[in-house]
Amino acid sequence: MIKFLDIQKINAQYSNELKVAASAVIDSGWYLLGNYVKQFESDLAAFTGATNAIAVGNGLDALRLIFKGYIEMGIMQPGDEVIAPANTYIASILSISDNGLTPVLVEPDLATYNIDIAKIEEAITPRTKAIMVVHLYGKACWSDELERIAKKHNLKIIEDNAQAIGATWNGTRTGNLGDAAGFSFYPGKNLGALGDSGAVTTRDSELENTIRAIANYGSHKKYVNKYQGLNSRMDEMQAAFLSIKLKHIDKENSIRRTHAALYLEKTENNAVVLPAKSEEALSLEHVWHLFVIRTKNRKKFMNYLTERGIQTLIHYPIPPHKQEAYKKLNHLTYSITEKIHNEVVSLPISPVQTTEETEAIIQAINQYDE
Ligand SMILES: *Cc1c(COP(=O)(O)O)cnc(C)c1O
Repeated sequence: MIKFLDIQKINAQYSNELKVAASAVIDSGWYLLGNYVKQFESDLAAFTGATNAIAVGNGLDALRLIFKGYIEMGIMQPGDEVIAPANTYIASILSISDNGLTPVLVEPDLATYNIDIAKIEEAITPRTKAIMVVHLYGKACWSDELERIAKKHNLKIIEDNAQAIGATWNGTRTGNLGDAAGFSFYPGKNLGALGDSGAVTTRDSELENTIRAIANYGSHKKYVNKYQGLNSRMDEMQAAFLSIKLKHIDKENSIRRTHAALYLEKTENNAVVLPAKSEEALSLEHVWHLFVIRTKNRKKFMNYLTERGIQTLIHYPIPPHKQEAYKKLNHLTYSITEKIHNEVVSLPISPVQTTEETEAIIQAINQYDE
């Protein structure tokens, strides 16, 4: 069987180093807010080029904390609007609404699956305070036009970088393009911890300071609380693991790219819409967290591959505005987003996938008869 993502095999590559690190953490007697977290924060700051990194509990918290930080700094207030793509994972939207901010959804570009930058300006109102870009499926979402819009309307740009660690735009890493970025190290992400964790990166040291306190009960100094904070911290064990795995992320992402290039080069079936070709596959703008195709008869296509021992998944079956959690948005129509959610299928891709496996998947797809 070809697994969608073999996390065990990914971590097995580093198991000796990971076990040594685990032992060292166990023996240290220090499990939170220690040297491994400090080290990982400095590794991540250096990797992205952003001057500050704050290790937190998970990716959703990373994004929530960015908005909480801006609210405490007086830059945003509840009721303000944040523009976000309509076709993202719900966590992006939760981070906005959780802070009493209003998500304003904008359709994606069908060619890239990222927010359609040409449609952002018409969604701006006097209450708009930020644009959240999501580098969906691992593809960097950025442009000079986006920067111009943000500057003109005095908006913050927040990156949801949960899926795109290592991607670059014009030589700058995602996570260092906007005003602040949230990372997820959920085990299935390109840089996966062995449990939950996440991080914020930003060049803004006031925001960094504020978030650091909010994530620690609202306190800079033990038992002195400046904010009504929360508890969201990366533990020492995960930090130690992540510093080890971060050293390999560029190599792992480049292996993902070679699989993507193979898919793009050799898949030929009119029933399947591939990701935009051009020079995309090997472009450093894409780290291929997911390789997503579209097909009209999705159920049949997925069953066909399952019968041939190939696991596939859907990212994502229901868009945020159609979820029960967002009843107030249910009446809205985002036709491009809905088309995407009805037709997408994610094919297996990972740094431990073999060329033979990718070729077997391609062959199966080429023989598929809609
Ligand atoms: C995974 C993910 C998140 C949330 O990260 P967690 O660590 O699971 O909380 C947020 N946004 C996107 C786009 C994601 O893929």
